[in-house]
Amino acid sequence: MTNESSAEAQGRGLPLHTKILIGLIVGIVAGLVANMLGATTKGAGGDANNNGLHDWLDTIIYWAEPVGKIFLRLMFMVVVPMVFSALALAVVEIGDVRKLGRLGLKTLGFTAILSSSAVLIGVGLVGIMRPGHSLGEGQRQKLLDQYASGANDKINKAKEAKPVKDTLVDLLPENPLQEMVGAVDGSSKGNGMLAVMVFALICGIAITTKPEETKTFVGWLEGLYEIAMAVIGFAMKLAPYGAGCLVFTLAAQLGFEILKTLFWFVVTALLGLSLQLFVVYSIVVMVFARMSPWTFFSQVSEAMLVAFGTSSSSATLPTAMKVAHDELKLPPRVSNFVLTVGATGNQNGTALYEGVVVLFLAQVMGVELTASQQFTVVLMSILAGVGTAGVPGGSLPLIVVVMQSVGVPGAAIGIVLGVDRILDMCRTVVNVTGDLAIAACVAKTEPVDMLIAGSEPAPVT
Ligand code: ASP
Repeated sequence: MTNESSAEAQGRGLPLHTKILIGLIVGIVAGLVANMLGATTKGAGGDANNNGLHDWLDTIIYWAEPVGKIFLRLMFMVVVPMVFSALALAVVEIGDVRKLGRLGLKTLGFTAILSSSAVLIGVGLVGIMRPGHSLGEGQRQKLLDQYASGANDKINKAKEAKPVKDTLVDLLPENPLQEMVGAVDGSSKGNGMLAVMVFALICGIAITTKPEETKTFVGWLEGLYEIAMAVIGFAMKLAPYGAGCLVFTLAAQLGFEILKTLFWFVVTALLGLSLQLFVVYSIVVMVFARMSPWTFFSQVSEAMLVAFGTSSSSATLPTAMKVAHDELKLPPRVSNFVLTVGATGNQNGTALYEGVVVLFLAQVMGVELTASQQFTVVLMSILAGVGTAGVPGGSLPLIVVVMQSVGVPGAAIGIVLGVDRILDMCRTVVNVTGDLAIAACVAKTEPVDMLIAGSEPAPVT
């Protein structure tokens, strides 16, 4: 993130990701110690049969909880404006992309195929490996008590099967404002956030039909998006303490069992990301770019390493452009365009991860998803992959949105935050490599003399 790098440049303390890592390690170790010492986790003023030590531990847990919640709420509060502005603006940009003709359409086509394959791999793996099922029933109930007030109602509501035809009709909101109101806590009548996303897409399409008349509104949308990003920046500043407190509360309650469950979650996510990276991308570059996967991966390795180190597609963009030019020898007009659009619009690793997290947390919380709800998760994860900012943790608010839409309590995201940072590094590698794979494929299929004048990329920030 820009704030992060400027702070580092001025030598103000440790980099943010190191602070987050320290916060997490301290939170987990302290939580496990508290668990072993027998924290009652009923909070200060709880009815436990306390001695002095238990009182003390419970008071710490009591105060750790709100710090974690404040961190989460900073993200929740900007979910609706962020999703709406990001998606509407993405469509406006795509409107411009279409003006760029075949180059833009091919980029879109590859993006749609690779995002869909990513989400299907992720969702399929969670279905097969069932990482969330390793948690015992007693521990699950503790989690429900912790994260979901009225959880059972929500879960029962989620279990109510809705025919696919109704799900499809509900994609179009009757009253978008009503859907926005209920989008974050999952209390809307229709499809909640998914309906808001569809509304944003339709607004975006409408804007592209009246570009001159809607200039001011587009300016508003850009402002709204920037505000949401700034608030997420505040949340990330709080992340070392917020995420630390969340994992502390969790480890204090569940002890080592949560680590075992998280281990299987990490294995599932990494397996999915590896399949997308090494199998799907290899096939795509072999078939469309006529390149050996070995050559491709060795040529793009610099960008992969920068993506891993920064957890940010946007921060890796300059390196990706350099690699495309110097190593892959792609025409800059093609590669710069594809990479610029892809840094936010094509996030396959993120889309895969979103599907995995939501289904994993549904398993952990004991929410059985119906076929139409799984369809919702797939669709929303693909759309969320388009609307995610290419910054560290950019997908977290959107994951909450997808969770809520299928009845999984949003606060349960705290369960995976402890391991999110390392998985963020890995999914960003998949995101950036996907952009480079698409650039190589599009360049191969695009005759250089057919390139459209004026398709220069937006300046790299
Ligand atoms: N860090 C990711 C990226 O920049 C986004 C995310 O998945 O949070 O590509």
